Amino acid sequence: MTVRQYDRLVQEVISNVQSYLEYLKEMGISALPISEGNPARVSSPTLEEIRSELGNCQRCKLHRTRHTLVFGEGNKKAKFMIIGEGPGYEEDVQGKPFVGKAGQLLTNILQSIHLQREAVYITNIIKCRPPQNRNPEPDEIRSCYPFLFKQIHAIQPRIICALGTFAAQTLLKTDIKITSLRGKFYEFEGIKVVPTYHPAYLLRNPERKREVWEDMKQIAKYLVS
Ligand code: SF4
Repeated sequence: MTVRQYDRLVQEVISNVQSYLEYLKEMGISALPISEGNPARVSSPTLEEIRSELGNCQRCKLHRTRHTLVFGEGNKKAKFMIIGEGPGYEEDVQGKPFVGKAGQLLTNILQSIHLQREAVYITNIIKCRPPQNRNPEPDEIRSCYPFLFKQIHAIQPRIICALGTFAAQTLLKTDIKITSLRGKFYEFEGIKVVPTYHPAYLLRNPERKREVWEDMKQIAKYLVS
């Protein structure tokens, strides 16, 4: 092994350890559970456990105006996870993600790459509808994010599609616009992330559908690789 290869390997190990420590922190663990002959092991909570931990969540002000907390639904072992912004009117009424017009469009987009909705797992950055469908506020995203983080670890998808500005910017910890982010591959906790436009945006700007289709085709290609 050359010195350069060795350096790269060390950097990779350090980066993996940093990610693991961040993961432990997000899980609320502040000390490593190490004992001789019994290596440290942290198992992810299941989706049921995460839902149960959320309970009748009142961790942010959105609980005051929501009707239903929309946790997420789909294949618990999905290779492909879709993360949107937050519930809208229909989702708030039905308690399911992406069931309104934007939801129908999402179903059509998935079918265009030969994927059934039931094969993927769909959730949002925030689990409660903001009043009048306004944008989620930073304190709301902060309060809800740990549960999304746990959902991702419980499902362990191969690839995530982040729909719209808030999903993309939250996962990628950036404030770069979705127009620049979309269609490229990024990493989140070792999982590929491809941002694209939100279906609600496509309803207002149908001329952008082709770009989303191109992004989805890239995802489909990765899924069979
Ligand atoms: S948006 Fe998230 S943090 Fe806020 S009340 Fe709903 S579930 Fe709780």
